[in-house]
Amino acid sequence: MDAETRLAEIAAEIRQCQDCPLSKNRKNAVPGAGPAKAEIMAIGEGPGHHENEKGLPFVGASGKFLTQLFSDGGVPRETVFITNVVKCRPPGNRDPQPIELQACSHYLERQIEVIDPLIIITLGRFSMARYFKNVRISNIHGEPSWQDGRLIVPMYHPAAALHQPKLRPVIAHDFAQLKEMIERQKVRRAKNVTDKNEQDSTSQLSLF
Ligand code: URA
Repeated sequence: MDAETRLAEIAAEIRQCQDCPLSKNRKNAVPGAGPAKAEIMAIGEGPGHHENEKGLPFVGASGKFLTQLFSDGGVPRETVFITNVVKCRPPGNRDPQPIELQACSHYLERQIEVIDPLIIITLGRFSMARYFKNVRISNIHGEPSWQDGRLIVPMYHPAAALHQPKLRPVIAHDFAQLKEMIERQKVRRAKNVTDKNEQDSTSQLSLF
């Protein structure tokens, strides 16, 4: 079965899912959107009001800003697979609860396995916590980390920059590094660089 069909099957399951209380109040589940073979995958927190209405990720104000950040960084949004850690809207945009994150996590894991992206961008605390423990985004934003054969890039959530204008140039600078990261990551994959020998040459990361 090809990647597109597998992703469509996961999306269909998500739309039927009743595994946690978030399913009760949703208008639309939001499985994610983008090419099945995207080089970059971006993972946000959860659908908000507009996403719940449309069934698509990042279509409200922070979505518009995200589109601009990708475009200014030379990576058209349409080339990125965008999804969230939870696929249904938490009421009133509250934080997703542990039970909801847990119930939803296998969908994200399967999407990552099918897409097999070169780079995963985390947007916000909950997707960052999948890859980085006991850290603050203010200390690690934009710094790629090589994990399980891909580059994980923790970014500020675009909504943070909408609320705190001084973060705008910071987040824009971080997104501007993406194109070069993709090129480097392609070379790594082509050379079959392993986690071990990558860690042995940590100086490479400082080149970003
Ligand atoms: N914020 C998110 O984290 N995800 C969305 O899809 C929209 C806003």
